[in-house]
Amino acid sequence: MFLVGEFRHLWYNISVMSKALIAVDKSRSFRVYLTITTDLVAEAARIHDTTPLGSAGLGRVLTAAGLMGIMMKNPTDKLTVSFKGEGPARQILATGYGTGKVKGYIANPYVDLPLTEAGKLDVGGSLGLGDLTVIKDIGLKEPYMGTIALVSGEIADDLTAYFYISEQQNSSVALGVKVEPDLSIGAAGGMIIQMMPEDGGGVAKADAPAADGDGLISIREGAIQALEKVIADMPPMTTLIDEIAKNNKAASESGLVKLLLEKIFEELPEEYKPEVLEERDIEWECDCSRERIEQALMTIGRKDLTEIIEEEGQAELQCQFCLRKYQFNKEELEGILELI
Ligand SMILES: [Zn+2]
Repeated sequence: MFLVGEFRHLWYNISVMSKALIAVDKSRSFRVYLTITTDLVAEAARIHDTTPLGSAGLGRVLTAAGLMGIMMKNPTDKLTVSFKGEGPARQILATGYGTGKVKGYIANPYVDLPLTEAGKLDVGGSLGLGDLTVIKDIGLKEPYMGTIALVSGEIADDLTAYFYISEQQNSSVALGVKVEPDLSIGAAGGMIIQMMPEDGGGVAKADAPAADGDGLISIREGAIQALEKVIADMPPMTTLIDEIAKNNKAASESGLVKLLLEKIFEELPEEYKPEVLEERDIEWECDCSRERIEQALMTIGRKDLTEIIEEEGQAELQCQFCLRKYQFNKEELEGILELI
């Protein structure tokens, strides 16, 4: 039996899928992880009832977590990206899995600030001074955890700094969410470019022209220089996504991501053009369940649970990712108490 207020929760677990791809350039100098997440961000904005500013922040973090999820090797690998700040949004958190599944929330979905001087949604201002923490669980004894101070709170800059400082990884992150005047999500997407390790990547040393002496630069350095130019000249992600969607109305979603890849790198010299390795899905899905919520109830301890049973006689817990509510009556709570 559903209470009136719960009808809107009936469609919680509908999954929404976005297309992503992994590409590597011909010289094996860098990898590209690219996705269009318009539908996924729209779903998250609907569930969390976010303001445009809230949609922009949550959408960027979700898109990044989705991309970082598919960067991991195993389906069981999991990572959490948490932006915490003194600003009115307070916290934006997302969890991504090796499978491409992703979920997230913003502590204050109703966050609202004036636009920046450039007329943009002020995601950096909504977070303010704070930290970015990334927790990676790749099946080792202890999960890996890295924390850095926020660079700008604009998400992409902070993640670029995180990769450099915490993972000694040269990368470039671009993320974008465009909110329409009617508050719908017009376009959303993201890209992470990751430089391959210096000594690996499949380029035989003998093939690479020497960096010294004759004034030639190595293939890798050439790739870096060409990439830097592409990144510096790149229009906002959402402008590109908008343009491609409008000019290719008949294209499938994965077709659009491929066209986006071509568009972003069209000015790159042929020898550095990225080629698609793999197509992936990034999917909004919350994996909460009654069993998990029961386990959470057990962790509060005998004393507190006894208090709840005696004083409230029931409990209602809400999943912070999908906002689904779980009710426990007195008998059920007593059953849980016996298991502690
Ligand atoms: Zn949930």
